[in-house]
Amino acid sequence: MAEIVLDKVTKRFPDGALAVSEMDLHIKDGEFVILVGPSGCGKSTALNMIAGLEDITSGELRIDGERANEKTPKDRDIAMVFQSYALYPHMSVRENMAFPLRLAKMDEATVKQKVEEAARILHLTQHLDRKPSNLSGGQRQRVAMGRAIVRNPKAFLMDEPLSNLDAKLRGQMRTSVSRLQRKLGTTTIYVTHDQVEAMTLGDRVVVLRSGVVQQVGSPQFLYDHPINLFVAGFIGSPSMNFVPATLENGTLNSVLGAVELPDRLRRLAEQANAPREVIMGVRPEHFEDVSLLEEGHRRGGATFTATVDVLESMGSEKYAYFTVDTEPVTTAGLTELVADTGAADVPGQGSTVVARLSAASEAREGDQAQVWFDVDKIQLFDPTSGKNLT
Ligand code: ATP
Repeated sequence: MAEIVLDKVTKRFPDGALAVSEMDLHIKDGEFVILVGPSGCGKSTALNMIAGLEDITSGELRIDGERANEKTPKDRDIAMVFQSYALYPHMSVRENMAFPLRLAKMDEATVKQKVEEAARILHLTQHLDRKPSNLSGGQRQRVAMGRAIVRNPKAFLMDEPLSNLDAKLRGQMRTSVSRLQRKLGTTTIYVTHDQVEAMTLGDRVVVLRSGVVQQVGSPQFLYDHPINLFVAGFIGSPSMNFVPATLENGTLNSVLGAVELPDRLRRLAEQANAPREVIMGVRPEHFEDVSLLEEGHRRGGATFTATVDVLESMGSEKYAYFTVDTEPVTTAGLTELVADTGAADVPGQGSTVVARLSAASEAREGDQAQVWFDVDKIQLFDPTSGKNLT
């Protein structure tokens, strides 16, 4: 087991590309940390520097308190699991899993015992004598994990290990990975761009954008208190809706109507002595079909009317997509900031608002629907810096 510390770790490739910039991270012994961010944000590069597969340009990596920048991958005693499994096709499952142990010249009786124990944990016992080509994707990925765990390394680094699997298998494997990590208690760093994996697997999530750490925290904390528009748009699926609004005398005006600022945001009204432009963020689950709400409940929010463009019925809930007309927001960098998150729309471009309604909603495509939203749950962002003001 290991404590892993990154102290201003930076990677600049020879062509000048800055892939990771001054990354600070303190991973506790036994912790499960998830690295997320859009494609190209530096997740794999960060992992490869920790594994020793990529040189560190500047900064320091410490494993269990010792500088590890110059250590070979072998001396770091860290096991890596890749998306592509990287199994030897001509070897059986047993031989694949035994490979790192034989390389370390472990005696055959111990090899046998370790492989069989890992196979038991990963439910691979009856497949030990098969070749990888005769296994399903999920089984192959379990063999790749088995090969990592037999070594009993200080830490596991996993680079999108489940992304080649279909949705159902991915769900099953996600629970297996979670159980396995808890059982072994081994420090794990896991790279993904999957929302569900990011929200459910780790103790903490690190959100990266263009090589720069945006925020580190528990999944729920990041969901409830995103530090900026980027994290707000990136964490959560469907993404948070962003609507341009003007704050004036304690009232927030937007295409979703004029609403009084909730008490928790009063101080923002007091700070502003002139109308102030903001971006209002509303999570899809903070909308509801008005007809399904009790009268008393409605008073705690605001209601607007919009045409349902698309309705997706998910069985247990419905996603309703509305187009709302908003003034273009021209702030430099905002479009890029939000577009990077993969949010449904960039604010101010005839934005789409996504609402998660109860399955009982009778709204239909093309209908003018009356929709309520919970004003108490909104977040407000500065349109220039993207910072969360709430
Ligand atoms: P993805 O989710 O698509 O795998 P990622 O977040 O893992 O992306 P990296 O693969 O770490 O991103 O890449 C980070 C940045 O560094 C990208 O801009 C990429 O183009 C660049 N990069 C990666 N490897 C090299 C290299 N060998 N030489 C130059 N630039 C590189």
